Amino acid sequence: MKKTKITAIVALAITVSVSALLIVFHSAANGKPTVNQKRNTLNSVNMAKKERKVPTDKPKDMQKNKLSGISMNKERNMPVLLHNLSSKRGIPILLYHHILKRSENTFTRDPAVINLEAFEEQMKYLYDLKYHIATMAELESYLHGGEVPNKTVVISFDDGLKTNYIYAYPILKKYNFRAINFLITGRLAQKPVPFQPEKLQYLSWPEVDAMRDVFEYGSHTNALHDKVLGFPGLIAEPDQVILNDLTISKNLLKTNFFAYPFGAFNDRAIRLLKLAGYQYAFTTIPVDARFGDNPYTIGRIAIYPNTDLDQFIKIVQTIK
Ligand SMILES: [Zn+2]
Repeated sequence: MKKTKITAIVALAITVSVSALLIVFHSAANGKPTVNQKRNTLNSVNMAKKERKVPTDKPKDMQKNKLSGISMNKERNMPVLLHNLSSKRGIPILLYHHILKRSENTFTRDPAVINLEAFEEQMKYLYDLKYHIATMAELESYLHGGEVPNKTVVISFDDGLKTNYIYAYPILKKYNFRAINFLITGRLAQKPVPFQPEKLQYLSWPEVDAMRDVFEYGSHTNALHDKVLGFPGLIAEPDQVILNDLTISKNLLKTNFFAYPFGAFNDRAIRLLKLAGYQYAFTTIPVDARFGDNPYTIGRIAIYPNTDLDQFIKIVQTIK
């Protein structure tokens, strides 16, 4: 997760990226190979334009860019009420990132940072209403046709931030909840560092180990949570770089689970995940997990700073 950038720079980066793509397509049409073609094709990319973008009042779901053939998943700009919550629900997989007390939150324009007070309220609601918080084994079983209790949800975190240890862990433990945390293994510190809420700090390995009674761990890449020419590394880097990265992270975590950085995936990323031995991959497409889902494109519903309790209740209100 990167610090918020100026919108203009993001817009420029996207413009440059799309231009680069158009060059690729144009050159391909003329049969001329380009440097860009050495990178793997960037078509059929399903990506969140920017992971930590300020929500807007006019969200659009999957915006189709017809010129470049890219599907831009803009779900992170979306007010939660616009999620497609049909009457026949599956298992909502909630997605969290960073949690800070309201009084110490200096990232107030960042949709990936929610207040501790809201997180406490949401977890208390799940506990009071006797929700079942499914483990990954239970989710796997469900995806293959197994039964789960009514009112089942999954709790997930992306990025492996220190506040998951400082704030989320004690609350989840208090309620005897389980969750999965998708770590960027290359960013984990060897030793815990003093907590500084004004900084974006990652977990350390000792903290990761100390939370195994609550958290299962999945991969969010080892070191591909950055962008190359405006595209996530998992999309833009060559096959061998991606495969090496996925393998390093998998071996460190001994996991079969993966979450796409920025929610971005394409057919090649799925192929490489399979090659590295991952069995499940999670997107940021805001839909419930259901029996029969493609295990490499499982949806998750992000909880934003503007998700109030009424909206949260609608998200977790499963009718089976
Ligand atoms: Zn992330």
